[in-house]
Order: sequence, then C-alpha cells, then structure tokens
Amino acid sequence: MKNKEDKKSKEFRSGFVAIIGRPNVGKSTFLNSTLGEKVSIVSRKPQTTRNVIRGVKHMDGAQIVFVDTPGLHRGTKALNRFMAREALGAIKDVDCVLLMVEATDPMNDGDDFIIGNLKHISAPVVLAINKIDKVSRDRLLPMIDSYSKVFAFKEIVLISATRSDGIDRVLELLTETLPEGPEYFPREMVTDQPERFLAAEIVREKVFHVTSEEIPYSVAVTVEEFNERLGKGAKPIIDIRAIINVERDSQKGIVIGKKGVMLKKIGTAAREELEAILGVKVFLEIHVKVTKGWTRNARAMEEFGYK
Ligand code: GDP
Ligand code: MG
Repeated sequence: MKNKEDKKSKEFRSGFVAIIGRPNVGKSTFLNSTLGEKVSIVSRKPQTTRNVIRGVKHMDGAQIVFVDTPGLHRGTKALNRFMAREALGAIKDVDCVLLMVEATDPMNDGDDFIIGNLKHISAPVVLAINKIDKVSRDRLLPMIDSYSKVFAFKEIVLISATRSDGIDRVLELLTETLPEGPEYFPREMVTDQPERFLAAEIVREKVFHVTSEEIPYSVAVTVEEFNERLGKGAKPIIDIRAIINVERDSQKGIVIGKKGVMLKKIGTAAREELEAILGVKVFLEIHVKVTKGWTRNARAMEEFGYK
C-alpha cells in the first residue's frame, strides 16, 4: 500500500472539471472558498458565456481547472433542446463533472433535468449536496439514498460551502479522476491576473472556432497589455493587446485571412465575449507573430504559460 502511494505522489495530475447545478445552490460560494476571492472576479457575468474558466486550484501534485457551463444551469422545462445540446457539447471534453445541489431543496425538477442530461456524457460525476448546515442530520441519509438511485455518481459528498465543510473531500475526489498531465497554468498567473489570463483563453478559443482544425494546436496566445482606464463619463475601459503566436508563416496567413477577414472575426468575437464577461468596454488589439517551432521550444512554452 505504501509503495502504491509513493508512486502516485510522483505523477502530476491535471484536468478540467465542469461545475454545474441550478442557480443559487452555492457554486460560486464553493469556488470562492476553494480558490480565494481573487480568482472569482473572472466570473462577474458567467451566465453570458459558454464554457469559461472559473479558476484554477493548485495543489501539491495536482491542478484542477474549474470550468463553467452555464447552459446546463437553467434546469427548467422551458429550456430547449438546442441549449442543452450546446451545453453538453461544452462539457464533453472535461475530465470530471461536479454537480452541486442543495440539501434545503433536494431533487428539484431542475436537478432532474440536469441529471437526465448527464446520462449522455462519459466523465465521472461527483455529487456535492451543499448547505447541510441548514437541515437536520436525519434528513441527509435518505437524501443520499434517493440521489444514488437516479444516477451512478462517483461519490456523493455532503458539504457546507459557507463553512468550508467537506470541501477537501470534494477536491480529493476530483483529483482522483484527473489523468496524469502538465501544470496547465503557472501559479502566479492565474491568481494574480485572472482577467488577463481569461483574455488570452478567449482569444485562443476564437482562433479555434474561426480557423481550421489544424491551427489551434500550434497557437499560443499571450497578453502583452491589460490596462483599465476611465473613459468618457468616468466609464471604465480596458485596453488589451494580445499576440497570437503561431509556428509557421503559412499559419499566420490562415489566422489573418484574406484582407484580414479571419483576424477581424477573431477580434470581434473575442471582444464581444470579453465585454460581456467583464461588463466594461474593451479595446482589443491583436497581432499575429510567427515563433518558429514554439511547441518544441521549452523556453518559449514557459513564456506562453505551458510548463
Ligand atoms: P450559485 O448561484 O450556485 O453560484 O450560488 P451562490 O454561491 O451565489 O449561493 C447562493 C446563496 O446560497 C448565497 O446567499 C450563499 O451565501 C448561500 N450559500 C451557499 N453555500 C451555502 C452553505 O453551505 N450554507 C448556507 N447556509 N448557505 C449557503
Ligand atoms: Mg454563481
């Protein structure tokens, strides 16, 4: 047993966890107490986006990247199939799903809807029943029992996000589901400047959407400038200068497109999403730069945030 543990501790685990659940069940509270206030500012308006990085939890030997998939939160009957499919598309690549429900209102219709949709994905699902501080203990066991009947959860954990009860257990379980992987995000970057980081992620995502499939893997986006200032009428404006780094001249041509059409599409889509998330006007300037062989160059990779 000891040997096995020693071996386990050597491999670094990392991956993406989608945190989903009805509004008001305590997802933000959970993330805040897990990640710290600073990181959560990326989510000023999370409901406007499709699949956004909410924060990164760094631990010894592991890193969890929490993503938000808003389409699945609205567990109402009015939700149309398209929305659900979109949301499912966004979570199909995650390594694990953390579903949160509240002990004060268990097995609500909204939960049913979400759980129904989870049946279509293959990632393990951890269920966290939150706000256990608000109900009497004897109600909890029957609750666990009824949830375990409707879905094969990896595990069901009782938590209180406000009291930080059970959070470590949740993190432990999530970590267990993650594959061996790199430290996607350097510690300093995410905790100190989540919005700058978010900007890079969103530009990268737009490159992926707008260009052909072979391009994204050779793309790293760096943000050289991220400045908040006050414009007319003291309205805040953020100036962002981002660089799309590609490996070859031919890729630069694709990303820019004929007469700059591609780059313009990327820029507009990224700016609109950033404005929606940050809630302020954004000026986004994007340059495309060829850094030959960056994917094989360790130094360059580090600079771009890949370790
Ligand atoms: P979200 O919509 O899922 O992100 O939910 P929030 O994190 O915004 O939480 C909604 C409300 O539930 C807030 O008023 C929180 O303070 C409260 N809340 C969250 N977790 C707990 C908990 O563990 N116990 C109690 N009593 N309240 C909680
Ligand atoms: Mg929230």
